[in-house]
Amino acid sequence: MGCMQSVTKLRLFASPDERRMLFATMERYNAACNAVSPVAFSEREFSNIGLQKRLYRHVRETFGLSAQMTLLAIRKVAGSYRSTREAIKEQNKVLAALSKPRKSLTELSFQEHGAICYDARVLSLGQNRVSIWTLDGRIKLRYSKPAYFPAVATIKQTDLVYQDGAFWLYATVETPDVEPAEPSEYLGVDLGVVNIATTSDGTTFSSEATEMVRQRYGRLRGVLQKTGTRSAKRRLRKIAGRERRFKIDTNHVISKQIICAAQGTKRGIALEDLKGILLRTTVMKGQRERHHKWAFHQLRTFIEYKARRAGVRVQVISGAYTSQQCSACRFVHPGNRPNQAAFRCLACGHTENADINAAKNIAARAAVNRPIAVCSLDTGGEVESQACKEHGATYGIMPPTSVGGS
Ligand SMILES: [Zn+2]
Repeated sequence: MGCMQSVTKLRLFASPDERRMLFATMERYNAACNAVSPVAFSEREFSNIGLQKRLYRHVRETFGLSAQMTLLAIRKVAGSYRSTREAIKEQNKVLAALSKPRKSLTELSFQEHGAICYDARVLSLGQNRVSIWTLDGRIKLRYSKPAYFPAVATIKQTDLVYQDGAFWLYATVETPDVEPAEPSEYLGVDLGVVNIATTSDGTTFSSEATEMVRQRYGRLRGVLQKTGTRSAKRRLRKIAGRERRFKIDTNHVISKQIICAAQGTKRGIALEDLKGILLRTTVMKGQRERHHKWAFHQLRTFIEYKARRAGVRVQVISGAYTSQQCSACRFVHPGNRPNQAAFRCLACGHTENADINAAKNIAARAAVNRPIAVCSLDTGGEVESQACKEHGATYGIMPPTSVGGS
């Protein structure tokens, strides 16, 4: 069994005197960070150990912090540079794909009331009070504990943050994996061609960047294949790897955001089965089709394993007619789709972005936990009778009065 990390926000109650102590400590700590930062930047030294060796004594003597607080200030600088560098690397992949200028790392500076990253040696969380190191010695403060604060939790790190006129602790707690609870609501995810993923909340992830990368590499590949020299073959292998890594990164980013959206609202994630996806991708040919099938498959896999790790339930529903069904009244008809991007219900007049409508259907089907909720014996249209035969289910839908005798 693995572990799950989450961040819990606790409010601290501090008297005016205690607030002054916390501010003074924050200011001194961030001043130390600002002394470390230029050295780290000019020497491109972002490892904790390397910076400690280089600066520990100097920082300790100059700023009068405790040994542990000195180490924590150095670690904050090193960690900030490492995560900023990672973020820039990710951004540059997208910028390169769009042929836009890249960003580069610049020297970081730390605000005087920026967070202090405490660890267990300088901050301990008791049942009702937190004991916290300041320049004036340790102080004990009351804090508000949210109802969902996990009982079995190991605190990894705690950041002291000044925000909205109050002091807060952002505690990173580690809890053992739990069997995901049966959620009553789901976040529906529609996988598509123009938009690689669309959620029932209306968030859209465009496949524009990956598609541009694919086309650009496709053209380059054509040229190199014609050339056929040894160096051309070497370049071919190189660009294949680069393209693959770009797609993997994109899918990691998308899946992570989808998991966060579901987890933050205690919902499950609903996906359609592969049949529904294939129904919509068979219109594509060749490279493009292979690319999209591959991307779908990988994104699904990422969502599933990340959800499991985060304790979020995933439900796969029948993907039949999710794009032709009205998410408002459940009426199914091919005519509900005037074009690829739009949805307009012939029965109730509901209009919506087609992908968001489909994602809502996916969410609704998972919530009722039934394979499919479409069928009308009255309308007798081809789609409806197919759906009926396939799934053997009959559910009430809007009477087909406004359909006009179809
Ligand atoms: Zn409708």
